[in-house]
This record gives sequence, C-alpha cells and structure tokens, in this order.
Amino acid sequence: MLLNVRLESGYQYEGGEVVATSTVLKNIRIDQGKITKITDTGVPYEKHLDCYDADGRLLLPSFKEMHIHLDKTYYGGPWKAAATRKNGIFSMIELEQSLLLELLPTAQERAEKLIELILGYGSTFARSHCNIDPVVGLKNLEKLQLALANYSDKLGHEIVAFPQHGLLLSDSEGLIREAMQLGVTHVGGLDPTKVDGDMEKSLQTMVQIAADYQAGIDIHLHEGGETGLKAIRRLADLTEEAGLQGKVTISHAFALADLAPGADVDMANRLASLGISIASHVPNGKGVMPIPMLQEQNVNVMLGNDSITDHWSPFGIGDILHKAHRAAELYGWSSEYKLSRALSLATGGITPLNESGKQVWPKVGDEATAVLVPASCSAETVARLPKCDAVLYKGNVASGSLHGVKPNGKNPKMNG
Ligand SMILES: [Zn+2]
Repeated sequence: MLLNVRLESGYQYEGGEVVATSTVLKNIRIDQGKITKITDTGVPYEKHLDCYDADGRLLLPSFKEMHIHLDKTYYGGPWKAAATRKNGIFSMIELEQSLLLELLPTAQERAEKLIELILGYGSTFARSHCNIDPVVGLKNLEKLQLALANYSDKLGHEIVAFPQHGLLLSDSEGLIREAMQLGVTHVGGLDPTKVDGDMEKSLQTMVQIAADYQAGIDIHLHEGGETGLKAIRRLADLTEEAGLQGKVTISHAFALADLAPGADVDMANRLASLGISIASHVPNGKGVMPIPMLQEQNVNVMLGNDSITDHWSPFGIGDILHKAHRAAELYGWSSEYKLSRALSLATGGITPLNESGKQVWPKVGDEATAVLVPASCSAETVARLPKCDAVLYKGNVASGSLHGVKPNGKNPKMNG
C-alpha cells in the first residue's frame, strides 16, 4: 500500500482559463507491479500489507529517455571536455577509430553508472542508440545488453543499431543485420546525403533492413536545409511503401526548423499521418525546433538527453524533466495549463489529466511505474524541477526510497 499519495483531480478555471490544478490524497494498492486499488485515505485497508507513506507527495507517471547513447560515454570516468571538430562529423568518426577501443573495457561499467543517473532523475525507460561500426563491431552492443540486463527490474529499454560511421560509408549493412538478430529493436541511420553520399541508397538500405526484421527505425538526421528536408520527405514515402507506419522516428530533424510557414504544417501533417515521431534534445543554438507546431499537428515529439558527457557534448544532465522545462522556457509555456501539458514531453505522452482536465492517470490496472515528487501539481513540477524522492518501476523502487509504516512500530525502508 502506498498511503497519502497526492493525485491530480482536475483543473480550476477562472474566466475560462486554467488558473490552478486540484489534487486529492488517496491510498493506492499495488500487486505484482500493477495498481489494483485506489481508495480514499479514510477507507480502511488491510494492515497486514507492506505499507509505505508518500506523505502527500505528488505521484506522476515516470519519465522516458528517448534518445541517449548508453554505450559510449565519458560518464563515470575522469572529466574530459568535448573534442573539437575541424571537419564536422567526419572528425568525430575519425576520432572514434581509437576512442571506442579505449572506452570498450569500461563500457559496461559506464553504461550502468549512466543508467543509475537517469533512474535518479525518474526515467524508467530508455531508448539507447548503440554504435555498430567496423571499429567495435558488435562489442558495444554486447556490453550495453549486459548493463541493461542488470537493470531489467528497474528500467525498460529499446536499442537502436546505430551506424555512426555511416551505413554506406563504413559498409556496415552486414553488421547491422547481425545486430538485428541479437534483440535490437530499431535500425538506425545517419545523414544519408552528407555522410553516406547517396540519400536514396542509404534510406532504402535502412528501410529494407527494418522491413526484413520487422523492426522500427530511428535515424540521426542532422542535415539541415534542402538535403535534410528531401531526406525527410523520401523517408516518409518509403515508410508508407514498406508499411512501417507508427514505427519510424527521426532524431534531431533539424531541417524542420528551416521550413517556411505553411510548408511546415504540410510536412507535419504528412509525418503525423504516417505516425513518424520526432526525437529532440531541444536545442536552442542555431535553430529552434518547431515543437509547438509539430504537436499542434499531432506529431509525436519525444525528448532525449543524447550526449551526457562524451566527445560530442559535455552538457547532458540526464534529466528528461529538465528537457521539458527547457522546452517550456524556450517556447514561453509559463501558464498553469501550458506547463501542465508540457509534462507529456517527459512521460512519453502520459499525463494525470487530459486536455479538458479529466483525471485519466493512474487507473486501476495501470503499471505501478511512477515518480513521487515534493510538488503540488504537474505545472509546478515542470517549472520548479523537484527532486524525485522515489522512482517506481512496476512496483519496485528503482531509485530513491520509500518510508515504511507498520502498526507494530517497525519502520522498514525500501530503497532503489
Ligand atoms: Zn544521438
């Protein structure tokens, strides 16, 4: 039993505008990872059950890290700033010829430390890209899978077989196909024109592998301007032809920031109609991603930290809620309603209240996968970034701790 849990129950309106969020305190029973009862705090409950007191803290759906490289990080090792890129992405591919082999002996250990980091910030799901290239072959994948297996009771995952050195450029199709047979869920890709030098062949190869293994796709598309837009349009066509609707993600997709008003809406409609989602790390440097417009057109936008600290970037915190906070700041979502809705960017779309303020989460039968935060509502959580006191994954404490209450005076603690 989780006692005295704060749940959102509705929006409060003034003059037609949401001005606050109402909450109620409830007791929640969890059996075998699922919520089986939600009752008023005054209703008697079976005292023989293990009971933990949430002390009025807010229960929210836990977070989803939808773009990270768990296999390739400096995190957990000595501090090192990012590398300089004299020749853009090609300098990084060159650097990785030696760097990947240096990192390999500690790759699993670092991946596990990174998993601990994101768990502490409330992510209980990660889609990790994993280098598949001629330098490390399938070895990063092997280490990543060992790390993920050690956390299978705390973190759900997907793995993208990522041809970081170019699917065609490094002739990695055979390796990617081998990876697909080892439990990988998504085929990756990388800048088909700029890196592979043959957009059509690169995209076709990627889509064909996905079709052959009935897998998803998640492509790194950094290319901006016309070549990037051309790649997005062509990938949309190939997605439709291969029947991969709902299974394709474009990561970064910076080219979308270059679209003129009008054309951007047409493109967003096309993506939405094919269930193509966008994974963004919410950049605010050169271009601002049109996330509000994409969401208005019903494109599924997901967030990821991407680099935590590695040769690409030293700035990742590991906190997906912080990414939603940055989006809110960037797009001016400062009202109660907009902040409240912004939570969905961190949770993979799940929110306690629906758009009209009806309570839709949690329900009996839902997985007990959630975070407990010292906050009064979702809007405050997105704006003020409270620490996650406890992170639950299918009823287990995955991070943080819960204080037990027992009538016999014993006070067991459950730690993540
Ligand atoms: Zn990435």
